[in-house]
Amino acid sequence: MKLRDIYRSTKPAFSFEFFPPKTEAGERTLFEQIEILRTLRPSFFSMTYGAGGSTRDKTISLGQKIREISGVETVCHLTCSGQSRDEIRAVIGEIQAHGMENVMALRGDPPRDQIDWKPHPEGFRYAVDLVRAIREIGDFSIAVAGFPEVHPEAISRESDLNFLKQKVEAGADVVVTQLFFDNEDFFRFERDVKALGIKVPIVPGIAPITSAAQIRRLTTLSKARVPPKLDRALKRVENDDSAAREFGIQYTAEQIQGLLDHGVAGVHLYCLNRAAACKAIFEKLGLI
Ligand code: FAD
Repeated sequence: MKLRDIYRSTKPAFSFEFFPPKTEAGERTLFEQIEILRTLRPSFFSMTYGAGGSTRDKTISLGQKIREISGVETVCHLTCSGQSRDEIRAVIGEIQAHGMENVMALRGDPPRDQIDWKPHPEGFRYAVDLVRAIREIGDFSIAVAGFPEVHPEAISRESDLNFLKQKVEAGADVVVTQLFFDNEDFFRFERDVKALGIKVPIVPGIAPITSAAQIRRLTTLSKARVPPKLDRALKRVENDDSAAREFGIQYTAEQIQGLLDHGVAGVHLYCLNRAAACKAIFEKLGLI
């Protein structure tokens, strides 16, 4: 099913994001987690594309395998990183050959050993270029990234929002946001996006909190702001794993409840290949 139809027909539509495991054991564990996540009745799963374009084959083959085995729609991410335009077009063709109708189109993160993102000499520079290429190749439904706290490299909030508008005008059907911990950041972003005349669903991306260390790792990568109240609470449970987990599940459940009360079209969970916290959050929310 196409993303644009998923968000029209299911409200709210929940989705879970995975990354390709490095080992066979990791892959077996992922499929065990997927069995649990399936019971939460997700609308789709998504599979990331490694930094620098490093997991190209694995993203597509694993995305397809998950789709077949789980019976849940699975969306492959695709980035502009480390590939020429022709190579990217070949990947889009592969996705199409597998009968997949959706793509999450991103510029990409730099490889682990690089600070700055650099385009491939014959590649695309921005996600909008990728959206256009995907549109030229087939009738895909396309998701793009949005940044409630502004993309770290953006020259201004205004320019970042205008570039998001370009991605939607180029053919994106849905915006999935970077993770954030304060719903006010999302509400402001959504207001600004709507004020620009963007009408596609804006879907919040949420990372279930499981420990102080995990939040530090995530925020170093994403540059997401940790609100002072959350920071203080995390410090109090710093050395107590079970208290941190309990606190994190409660915090994330309240955050999601606030978004559902607001009427969001869906919630995309950065589950990091782990089902337990998501299941506990769904239980708290009375969704299962
Ligand atoms: P763009 O939309 O290209 O924006 C990048 C920067 O350029 C922004 O600062 C923007 O303001 C600016 N910009 C955009 N267009 C123009 C223009 N025409 N002229 C000048 N400036 C412009 N990374 C991965 O490597 N693999 C993944 O699988 C992956 N999945 C993700 C999923 C989601 C839901 C999200 C939110 C992020 C994901 N990322 C992934 C991270 C993403 O690739 C990075 O955050 C990246 O830095 C930005 O990607 P983008 O698609 O928003 O880029």
